[in-house]
Amino acid sequence: MALQRTFSIIKPDATKRNLTGKINALIEDAGLRIIAQKRIHMTRAQAETFYGVHRERPFFGELVDFMVSGPVVVQVLEGDDAIATYRKVMGATNPKDAEDGTIRKVFAESIEANSVHGSDAPETAEVEIAYFFAGLELVG
Ligand code: GDP
Repeated sequence: MALQRTFSIIKPDATKRNLTGKINALIEDAGLRIIAQKRIHMTRAQAETFYGVHRERPFFGELVDFMVSGPVVVQVLEGDDAIATYRKVMGATNPKDAEDGTIRKVFAESIEANSVHGSDAPETAEVEIAYFFAGLELVG
């Protein structure tokens, strides 16, 4: 399997509870390398653009409010089959449906405050990485 990169966000519910290190440990235990990472407080415009595909969904406003409610940690992860590997470590969107040992099962508070984001496809990973990071910030 080829080396691949994916984009990750440690969401406000997790940074608020000081869980960045614990989540990073699960990421690294899964064989993924954190090749870029920074803590930011997203603006409303950034959150609306980032979640633009969900603009028509009923929860869009709440989701944006949540994403700007506190700092987040944006990351680029690298590894074999990184996109699928990270989705597996994250667990299902709703923590009630997530498998034991996944980040969302262990840490998420709700379907919205679910601790992490991970890209769902190579095309979205590329766009999401480029939205938050300059090429020189990725150190693989
Ligand atoms: P993901 O790829 O597993 O993050 O899930 P989606 O792309 O479907 O949804 C994006 C994000 O929107 C999720 O991670 C949640 O934070 C939020 N979300 C998804 N479904 C719901 C919902 O039914 N209600 C609310 N309030 N938020 C949701």
